[in-house]
Amino acid sequence: MKTRDRLRIAMQKSGRLTEPALELLGRCGLTFRQSRDKLFCFGEGEPVDLLLVRDDDIPGLIAQGVCDLGIVGRNVLDEFSLTAGRDAEPLNEWRPLGFGRCRLSIAVPQELDYQQARQLAGKRIATSYPGLLGEWLRTHGIDAGVVTLAGSVEIAPKLGTADAICDLVQSGGTLVANQLREAEVLLESEAVLAGPAVLPADERGDMVELLLKRLDGVIQVRESRLLLLQTSRHTLDAVTRLLPGGPQPTLLAVAGQPDQLMLQALCAGEVSWRQLEEIKKAGAREMFVLPVEKMLA
Ligand code: ATP
Ligand code: ZN
Repeated sequence: MKTRDRLRIAMQKSGRLTEPALELLGRCGLTFRQSRDKLFCFGEGEPVDLLLVRDDDIPGLIAQGVCDLGIVGRNVLDEFSLTAGRDAEPLNEWRPLGFGRCRLSIAVPQELDYQQARQLAGKRIATSYPGLLGEWLRTHGIDAGVVTLAGSVEIAPKLGTADAICDLVQSGGTLVANQLREAEVLLESEAVLAGPAVLPADERGDMVELLLKRLDGVIQVRESRLLLLQTSRHTLDAVTRLLPGGPQPTLLAVAGQPDQLMLQALCAGEVSWRQLEEIKKAGAREMFVLPVEKMLA
């Protein structure tokens, strides 16, 4: 049964993931009519609309079929998959998106001489992620109490409601401020594109595939640089040896200068001044380093 023609993507209304998600969608050619204070954003170019919601609601909206895709932290997606129950539609992580990086970690009071996971046995651990914590405790054979809190998990040890916590950590600043120390990393998280394991069989499925290709074209080259330079034929080997990684460079003839070549190389990451200076010493001239915006192989 066909319910909708337009693809609907759920994303966080306001929070850490909002700006980078909109920026990434923009790079994929998806722009939206400005109504960011509303729940619904109508897509202008492509038949793709946004639903702006709390991040915790995103997996459920996909599982219920209200949305086709979502941009959400792996921590939220995996917690949903572990706690939603057997009847819920299984969700897939279609792409990692490279922003919103953090980890779900167990932290203990600094004064505890923490050496190994077994020391957590018998302790009460406060968390907003009972599914992920419970699974980790099970796989490590540790019998500990799970105290589920909706927020302010980091103050639970001070309040005496828990002995340790399991929460998201980015820099670790919040832990230090609460005299806690990271003891175990349960999950490395980042924002992901989530969707049903089976994509819709209609136009929306085609649109998802198109979006995945565009995302790949943006994500793969996000860190890449295009290096352009000139070299004479006799210094070509020396110059090529110094090129930072990546596939074989392309060589082009320079009109009117049979000894000269123009070299073009896609480099996997930033090209530093030091590297440029070394390559120049080997005989290169007229060097340019350009950011790469899109790629369609
Ligand atoms: P809401 O529920 O209102 O949408 P929130 O308070 O749950 O917002 P944020 O704090 O904006 O959400 O975090 C959203 C996501 O950002 C987290 O689920 C996580 O994947 C990621 N994230 C990255 N770094 C951190 C961090 N230091 N603390 C919390 N979340 C982080
Ligand atoms: Zn939330």
